[in-house]
Amino acid sequence: MPRSRQQNVMAAQWSANGSSMGSPDLTQSSNQVFGENVFGPAVQRQRLPRNVYKQFQETLARGEALDTSLADQVASAMKEWAMERGATHYSHWFQPLTGTTAEKHDSFYSPTGDGSAIAEFSGKELIQGEPDASSFPTGGIRATFEARGYTAWDPTSPAFILENPNGAVLCIPTAFASWTGEALDTKIPLLRSMDALSRTAIRVLRLFGDQAAQRIFTTVGPEQEYFLIDEQYYFERPDLVTTGRTLFGAKPPRGHELDDHYFGSIPERILACMLEVERELAKLGVPIKTRHNEVAPNQYEVAPIFENSNVGCDHQQLVMAQLGAVARRYGLVCLLHEKPFAGVNGSGKHNNWSMGTDTGDNLMEPGDTPGENLQFMFFCAAVVQAVNSHQALLRASIASAGQDHRLGANEAPPAIISIFLGAELLRAFEAISSGKPVQDNGRGFLGLGTPALPPLPMHGGDRNRTSPFAFTGNKFEFRALGSAMSLSLPNTVLNTIVAEALDELGGKLEGALASGSLEDGVRQVVRDSWDANRQVVFEGDNYSEAWHAEAERRGLANLRTTPEALPWLIDPQTIAAFGAYDVLSERELHSRYEVLLEQYVINVNIEAETAYSIARTMLLPAAARHLAELKAAGLAELADETEAAIGELAASLSALESVNASHEGEEGSLEHAAYMRDDVLPAMAAVREVADRLERLVADDLWPLPKYSEILFIK
Ligand code: ADP
Ligand code: MG
Repeated sequence: MPRSRQQNVMAAQWSANGSSMGSPDLTQSSNQVFGENVFGPAVQRQRLPRNVYKQFQETLARGEALDTSLADQVASAMKEWAMERGATHYSHWFQPLTGTTAEKHDSFYSPTGDGSAIAEFSGKELIQGEPDASSFPTGGIRATFEARGYTAWDPTSPAFILENPNGAVLCIPTAFASWTGEALDTKIPLLRSMDALSRTAIRVLRLFGDQAAQRIFTTVGPEQEYFLIDEQYYFERPDLVTTGRTLFGAKPPRGHELDDHYFGSIPERILACMLEVERELAKLGVPIKTRHNEVAPNQYEVAPIFENSNVGCDHQQLVMAQLGAVARRYGLVCLLHEKPFAGVNGSGKHNNWSMGTDTGDNLMEPGDTPGENLQFMFFCAAVVQAVNSHQALLRASIASAGQDHRLGANEAPPAIISIFLGAELLRAFEAISSGKPVQDNGRGFLGLGTPALPPLPMHGGDRNRTSPFAFTGNKFEFRALGSAMSLSLPNTVLNTIVAEALDELGGKLEGALASGSLEDGVRQVVRDSWDANRQVVFEGDNYSEAWHAEAERRGLANLRTTPEALPWLIDPQTIAAFGAYDVLSERELHSRYEVLLEQYVINVNIEAETAYSIARTMLLPAAARHLAELKAAGLAELADETEAAIGELAASLSALESVNASHEGEEGSLEHAAYMRDDVLPAMAAVREVADRLERLVADDLWPLPKYSEILFIK
């Protein structure tokens, strides 16, 4: 008998043609496509009158508002450029609080009155849009009767053309605000936080005698993990289609125990897909740098070169979107969920973060002797202080239902936020703390035991893969982000809390300078801050039980679940910090809290209903058929075993049905979220436990869901 469930796959099939946008010969240099679909400075210089170009760039550099006549000229050049490249429509592209992107396409054409149409696109249309905003989540900021929301052009992130096999759209990165000016998106607070950090960091740099830098940019380089699976299995699994993760599935006989997938050679179909993803991203100006196999079977990673945080966050959204779109051209589906397969490593995102001056210096670059680089030690101390003071908020900034399966599950950093500095930096801080000169150990070279291989320069410390927040040479790497999430909130939080710490330490340094030398002042300020915040530094194994105990002794926050973490978004200390730097008002913070809480509840609820329906209408009937076959064959003992399991499944299903039916707590409240966590998730887990046992008992041809051993190993 064939598998019971195949027919839907036909409907979902997409011809696995790949390269549906044509495939140029990349060995021809004229076919290099980087940035070809971006309205960046090079195109602007070509297309705008010289004085307009100059005025435009200067306005951007000063971070000032554009006047309308300038906008008209930019709009006109942008339209011409886009239409030459096949665009017929434009869209304000924005990032509402859903964490993804939104777009509404408008045609360039307007009626002329004589029955024909001409292409038009004015500065006004470039600068402002008014989508019907009533259906975006706002967490109570805007009731539907006051549904006005505006999108506003962000000229600091270049417009780009999204291609489709049948046409093209000019996308204009925009911010999204309510008609009263409150941020309804993730971009506005990010930009505000970058401004806040720039202001405070410049003030500190002046104390160190730097008069040249005018602006500080925070930078982000995200490493994205994802799965690629064959689309047939995807469409045969309603749980993957509806929730992004498998709600059932017994552990396969082979997982990643062999460690043969990580950095393994990339299978041909996968590499073909990656190459096309990267080519599409290159056209969009996203500078992809690395790709490799990840730890789990069928899991991969892609990372770009870092960019300023705003552009980097926009580009990260494009990376996720292109992975999804291009995979389909190869008969694959990209899974971005944080935990698509139980018992198999989930996917995260590493958020590499630093600060750089407009004169080209990376403020997190220690040089060869960090202990003697007082400016570096000062900025680094500020990061340590910020992370220690706002551990719980950082945890909240990465909270989601998907993340709760991953953080602390021996594959990702725990929910405890701590910092890894590495031996060299730790020594430097300890030396300042004890008032001793810093010992320069001299890094030397690593000999490889044969003259055939070159000696390698040694690093100042080993790596620590288990730390959620690690110093990695010239940047900090916040490793606890989820694979599906926007980078904006965690970076907004990082920028804001580091701005606060720099401000405080800068104030102290100013005070100290009144009566002493720069060096003495810095040493004193860094020592005091280090002594007060060193508790957040941990160099050991973050996955170990011992660390959980130790962290508790130290009083570090350990917020295991989303409902525990989210309230920190509206904690008085958060409200104070975000208010002081005008990043998010109390109301704006509340709206984010409410939206994230609501998303948690909705996501768990969708999973619970999907789990019920699959178990009831697919798994239970399969098991019953199997039972009938065993009985017909006279296999009484085996039939008893199956019958008992079916009984358990039925019982767990009615338990799930009743928790699904009577939610406790006001809709979207913290109590509601806690109910989902404490009642609904365990009831789902109970159903799954029996179902996964049945998967091992029921005849393979009767089991309606593709198994982990198929999904994860067929490439
Ligand atoms: P590793 O994680 O092994 O140290 P890399 O040095 O290649 O790997 O860096 C990983 C990511 O860190 C890349 O996306 C890279 O662009 C990013 N990165 C490097 N320098 C910075 C920086 N100054 N600011 C932000 N991200 C950075
Ligand atoms: Mg890394």
